[in-house]
Amino acid sequence: MKNIYGLTMEDLEQYFISKDGKKFKATQVFEWLYKKRIKAFSEMRNISKKTIADLENDFVIEPLNIIAKKEDVDVVKYLFNLHDNNKIEAVLMLHDYGNSLCISTQVGCNMGCHFCESGRLKKVRNLDASEMVRQILAVEEDLKIRISHIVLMGIGEPFDNYDNVIAFIDIINNPKGIDIGSRHITISTSGIVPKIEAFMNYDKQVNLAISLHAPNNAIRSSIMEINKAYPLEVLIPTVKKYVLKTGRRVTFEYIMLKDVNDSEEQALLLSELLRGINCYVNLIPYNETSHIEYKKSTKEQIMKFYDTLKKNGINVTVRREFGSKVNAACGQLRSNYEEAKDEI
Ligand code: SAH
Ligand code: SF4
Repeated sequence: MKNIYGLTMEDLEQYFISKDGKKFKATQVFEWLYKKRIKAFSEMRNISKKTIADLENDFVIEPLNIIAKKEDVDVVKYLFNLHDNNKIEAVLMLHDYGNSLCISTQVGCNMGCHFCESGRLKKVRNLDASEMVRQILAVEEDLKIRISHIVLMGIGEPFDNYDNVIAFIDIINNPKGIDIGSRHITISTSGIVPKIEAFMNYDKQVNLAISLHAPNNAIRSSIMEINKAYPLEVLIPTVKKYVLKTGRRVTFEYIMLKDVNDSEEQALLLSELLRGINCYVNLIPYNETSHIEYKKSTKEQIMKFYDTLKKNGINVTVRREFGSKVNAACGQLRSNYEEAKDEI
């Protein structure tokens, strides 16, 4: 049976129109679910018995199960069990500007980036919208906090699960629901060009981050399989078009991998590649994993790279390192769990 948390306001309105024509009930249900956080339909006091019985017949209202949790000063990492026993994770980061939750969009990932734990574990299936929404609800309930920012940077490639991701954004952005502002939501993609094209026509001001990680095709193809399908001469013009069409600035993520993509010469190449694009570059210190041989760049190398980009007129920041102690990088908690169930 369908989980109620996967319905957009529009879906719920359609549902009530088909039941009794009273679509205003959709707003009431949204408020009960997301403002009052009820656990059973029977708790909805201003809704008729008949409607409650209908909802109970047609939908389930089930939270996600937290099966493991790891905390550090500024980060809490969660592992969830899904109804089919698949495991996914979410990472909460406590910033001075608010609480940001990094959520998963798939079980595993088929993009196969060589440096990534999630890619090592092949895609099993897409998450539905309710499984994304429920990651937020579970963390908010567990810590009794409100999450202000969402990043789709956990396990999975959001643009390989496009329709569910868009439904998820519609649900959490709705003012009658969790009400997370679109400018507080960031989707990260490895660069699935047709979906970047589709996303240009999406009317919400959601942020887009592109996992670039290399200044040329030779390096990018050696670490990211997707570059063979959508190489830079296709990706970069698409991103330029996206920026022009939407007026939104994009972020390029760039993982700093020792002796792979972190030289000053590569920083110059990157500056050339991005010249004139309304963007900024986020340099990400690589989170080493025991299964993959890549090493993180030294701090000095990262700063040299940063300076070269700056000197060449590129907006650049270095990402603060969260939770390397708790294996916060994409896919790491789950992958450790699968191997040593009690030792994460
Ligand atoms: N599939 C999407 C979103 C999930 S990955 C994408 O690739 O953009 C989110 C970000 O984490 C990506 O930029 C990815 O390259 C990065 N990442 C993956 N493994 C990492 C690691 N071990 N250390 C640091 N960043 C990592
Ligand atoms: Fe998938 Fe992103 Fe990991 Fe690449 S970096 S394997 S696209 S989750």
